[in-house]
Amino acid sequence: MSELKMVSTRGELEIQIDMEVEEVTLEQAIDLLLSQTDITNMRESVPIGEAVGRISADVITAPMDQPPFDRSPLDGYTFHAIDTYEASRERPAVLEVIGEICAGDHYDDYIPRGKAVRIMTGAPIPIGCDCVVRQEDVAVDKCGHVLIPMEMHRHQNYCFAGEDIAADAVLVEADERLTAAHIGVLASMGLRRVDVWRRPRIALAGTGDELVEPGQELTAGKIYNSNIYTLAARLQELGFAAQVIGILPDDVPTAAQVISEHAADTDIFITTGGVSVGKKDIMHGVIRALQAERIFWRMAIKPGAPVLTYKTDDLLGIALSGNPFAALATFELLVRPVLAQASRNPAVMYHRQQAILDDDFLKVSAGRRFIRGRYHGGHVHLPGHDESGVLFSARHCNALVDIPAGTIELQRGMVVDIVRL
Ligand code: AMP
Ligand code: MG
Repeated sequence: MSELKMVSTRGELEIQIDMEVEEVTLEQAIDLLLSQTDITNMRESVPIGEAVGRISADVITAPMDQPPFDRSPLDGYTFHAIDTYEASRERPAVLEVIGEICAGDHYDDYIPRGKAVRIMTGAPIPIGCDCVVRQEDVAVDKCGHVLIPMEMHRHQNYCFAGEDIAADAVLVEADERLTAAHIGVLASMGLRRVDVWRRPRIALAGTGDELVEPGQELTAGKIYNSNIYTLAARLQELGFAAQVIGILPDDVPTAAQVISEHAADTDIFITTGGVSVGKKDIMHGVIRALQAERIFWRMAIKPGAPVLTYKTDDLLGIALSGNPFAALATFELLVRPVLAQASRNPAVMYHRQQAILDDDFLKVSAGRRFIRGRYHGGHVHLPGHDESGVLFSARHCNALVDIPAGTIELQRGMVVDIVRL
């Protein structure tokens, strides 16, 4: 393996780059990030009040029966059904009412034959009683008897313990998205917290001495930092919050210092710029300064080939190309699948399909290439301006056309593979 040693004229920058690194395919790159890090295995415990929309990390089973006791589904009277044998409108059963139970009460005594207890919805059915008659269906006489004008059968209007949820029933599957109803079920089981997959904590920084923040004065030779705003906005659209660190200078020790300062509370540190073979491509040096392990450098795609990824004990580093469209395209193609897997949220993932090309693309693609497109109704239109530095023509794009290596040209009417963003 040959190593290229670079020393800047000012002497403060020293970068060594392995030149014989094997490019990986996009698919291999995704697999490497998922298999060589524990990014898909990060869980956290959250209060149920904050868990809606999160993805459960575990199968959750019922710790108890719901309802926890046999209970009345309505307001009425409870007694032994057998006491209403052959009762009718003309000859109602007459039972002495010996008590009253509301929801929240409980009645320990056995209720003997011939007696009834007034009972409200949700109250526990006392021992001995085996049915409930609706209050609207009975009469009560002056001496405290209830007159039941029909035969009742055992377990009529009777809710059994565990009827809604039996103990040990599965309440939530692993990797299931928690809805409002799930939250209610967990609460009904007395559960206060739930283990969910952690949404990766993401930090974002741009690298480059040429970068100036929007709002500041643009002096000669400088450009505005746009990548970090693009990526932060895209992360927001996908439901992730990112910590925006700002701009890192093209200085290895400083950049490494800032990254390590954020390591403890960051799962994925995304940077743009500094990943190619230029004099200021500091990220190779940053990896060494961090004593990080490189996962891969360079993917066999255009744009954005020189993606550099690394891991430390605390974080996964993904260093994307600085070219604005390349940064966005590789964020979509590489980072997004990793985020979808890490959060176990398939909704984060893009999907692939085929579409009919509405325009010619007459460049030769020696390697695999992704170009911007606008998908509509089975067709994909190419706005052109495919340069990796040009973001402007991506404004109305919602797809990337996946052009295989070795494609001479594409003509309108051809069926192509696309990634819908
Ligand atoms: P690099 O990958 O650092 O060589 O940068 C490639 C190109 O992208 C250069 O023209 C940079 O000036 C530009 N660039 C790098 N970072 C940013 C950024 N955060 N915002 C806009 N352009 C950038
Ligand atoms: Mg740079």
